[in-house]
Amino acid sequence: MELETIVAPAPAVNASPAPARPAAATWPRLKPPPFTPADWIGALPYLALHLGCLLVLVVGWSPAALVVAASLYVLRMFALTGFYHRYFAHRTFQTSRGWQLVFAVLGTSAVQQGPLWWAAHHRIHHRSSDQAEDAHSPRVWGFLWSHVGWFLSHTNVRTRIEMVPDLAQFPELRFLNRFHVLVAIGLGLAL
Ligand SMILES: [Zn+2]
Repeated sequence: MELETIVAPAPAVNASPAPARPAAATWPRLKPPPFTPADWIGALPYLALHLGCLLVLVVGWSPAALVVAASLYVLRMFALTGFYHRYFAHRTFQTSRGWQLVFAVLGTSAVQQGPLWWAAHHRIHHRSSDQAEDAHSPRVWGFLWSHVGWFLSHTNVRTRIEMVPDLAQFPELRFLNRFHVLVAIGLGLAL
């Protein structure tokens, strides 16, 4: 048999080009809802967490502290991209219920709210990228809001449970999603 008859021809490059993006003038540009006093109070732990880094100038550092900081950074970054994003939001791979819980706890330790909240917002983001529904689109809402405002605002605090029925069927994930702050507190106390 001739080789050409069993090898599928390579698809031509740009055989079916993606549809052109709409002109910039058609992108929605909206004004974010105003920050309420309750939003500012809710943002205090977030601000304190970041300002707290400056305390290193007071307490100093040690090689052990540096190793802990670097290790937690790598671990939690991976937990967000590998587990919150790839597993919970996109279901890119399968795992057991036990490992699913381990992944959820690791992701939650990065203090970006619970896995159901994160996955629901991310699924909406993919469903309606750069549309009004996309809570953190810089094109729609501006840079500052898409960077920090959206997740500090009461507008987006609620978990859109209707977006994650596959995850919400697990009571342990719902518990972790509701009491996500316990993981951060536990990690802090452990250190
Ligand atoms: Zn994604």
